[in-house]
Amino acid sequence: MTAMFENYIEKIVRDKLADLFKKDKLICQCDNCMQDMLTLTLNKLPPMYVSSNIGHIMTMFNLSHDQLTARVTVEILKAVELVKKSPRHGEKK
Ligand SMILES: [Zn+2]
Repeated sequence: MTAMFENYIEKIVRDKLADLFKKDKLICQCDNCMQDMLTLTLNKLPPMYVSSNIGHIMTMFNLSHDQLTARVTVEILKAVELVKKSPRHGEKK
């Protein structure tokens, strides 16, 4: 039996990154940098794998949806700054 899990946080992160890319043209959008920003952000956040029950997660962490999104946004902005300072796309060896 296979359970269908989706990392809800990853979904929020991807949506937010897409928003940021539209607003800030200085953010590199190449695959390496995208992956770095995603990984850096997800590493800072508790994994929230869910089937479909986001309500359960928010209860677990005692967060409202807005608070959850705010927390994720803070970590994304940090990750974006890090990648901006030292993008890895030049390091192909
Ligand atoms: Zn890049």
